[in-house]
Amino acid sequence: MSESITTDSEASLEAFRGEVRAFVAQALPETVREKVRLGLEVSKDEMIAWQHRLAERGWLAPHWPRDWQGLGWSAERRAVFQEELVLAHAPETGGISIEMIGPILIRYGTPAQQQYFLPRILNLEHWWCQGYSEPNAGSDLASLKTHAVRKTRADGTEVYVVNGSKIWTSYAQYADWIFCLVRTDSAARAQQGISFLLIDMRSPGISVRPLVGIHGWHLFNQVFFDDVEVPVDHRVGDENAGWGIAKSLLEHERLNLARVAENRRRLAKVRAIAAEVEEAGQPLTERPWFARRFRELDVRLEALAATVLRFRQRARAGERLGPETGMLKLLGSRLIQDIENLAVDALGPGTLAYDRAAHFEPAAPRAGQSAYAAAASARRFVTRGYTIAGGSSEIQHELLAKQVLGL
Ligand SMILES: Cc1cc2nc3c(=O)[nH]c(=O)nc-3n(C[C@H](O)[C@H](O)[C@H](O)COP(=O)(O)OP(=O)(O)OC[C@H]3O[C@@H](n4cnc5c(N)ncnc54)[C@H](O)[C@@H]3O)c2cc1C
Repeated sequence: MSESITTDSEASLEAFRGEVRAFVAQALPETVREKVRLGLEVSKDEMIAWQHRLAERGWLAPHWPRDWQGLGWSAERRAVFQEELVLAHAPETGGISIEMIGPILIRYGTPAQQQYFLPRILNLEHWWCQGYSEPNAGSDLASLKTHAVRKTRADGTEVYVVNGSKIWTSYAQYADWIFCLVRTDSAARAQQGISFLLIDMRSPGISVRPLVGIHGWHLFNQVFFDDVEVPVDHRVGDENAGWGIAKSLLEHERLNLARVAENRRRLAKVRAIAAEVEEAGQPLTERPWFARRFRELDVRLEALAATVLRFRQRARAGERLGPETGMLKLLGSRLIQDIENLAVDALGPGTLAYDRAAHFEPAAPRAGQSAYAAAASARRFVTRGYTIAGGSSEIQHELLAKQVLGL
């Protein structure tokens, strides 16, 4: 799927930025904006409602090809769009459906799979989740053990019978479908015996066990497959060719992994917290420990933004970016964690109280407490996952050492 079909002048990008800002200002409900600003959990209904607003404007999947309601935006236009949404406190949308399985089906799906699934992603009928990781297969994903064996039913249809389990499956509790990597040849080399299946979450034999995190939020699940029958037509690509398909996902959007806009938004939150909090009779902004840490984070953010800009200019000049972009995820995810740590330290002991209800709806802050305190600890723990998901920091270090530095 081509990301960069058109190029944009600086002036047209700035005009577009204004257009997105104006749209979000009128389309995003104030209640949702406030929840995102305070770091509270956004419900499935609120996420879907926001996606409907984007869909009505034609902006749900603008980077998809024109045949599938895409707009052929340049990479820069897309980056501006995402930045504006993040800075305006819009909830994250459709990562797994729009950014992962949609592009995979566009690239590798059969015409029948495309005709069935893509419209249902675009009209928000299907919520997808990703079934890659297993209890003993995370960083070393190719060691996955969930397996699928072919059988012919009495009526002559061919199916895979799937057994095993997937773990850390984000939002599986909401999902209608799951895309899974399964082993279809145990004798082959690890990467070569894997297939890519699309599985209806209502299939008999599937069960979902919630895994509530240290933050108290229900993001994760373990999904069990017990003799689950999956039509062979629901395999994407050839049998045993699933690894290449799974890997192709990683090529998308590498520059956005720095999460510059998200870091900016979070740092602005810390600035807002500091403006509310006093310590030893002084505004927090004037306390040396806070000022030093805040400035250090600000400098790291600007350095990261400059690095992304440099990569963008190289990409714009037609250069193919290599594995060095891995540094962006490493730096961006670490920065997010350090910003959230500072938010908790700035808010102090008030962040220790745990009130689950206050994670969903802004509550009246307790006397002397900032409204940011309710979810600050949870938010800090949620961001621990940023240096694990999508390739842990240790793995990123190894790749950079080997592939970029040649060590
Ligand atoms: C927020 C979040 C959302 C997620 N959502 C999903 C999802 O929707 N679907 C899904 O399939 N998975 C999901 N995951 C799982 C994620 O892909 C795995 O957590 C990740 O691949 C790491 O695997 P693991 O947890 O098994 O850790 P392990 O691979 O067991 O790693 C444990 C530790 O050992 C280190 N380590 C491992 N190998 C090496 C090595 N070779 N060299 C040096 N250090 C090493 C790791 O860096 C880590 O610190 C999610 C994870 C998080 C945090």
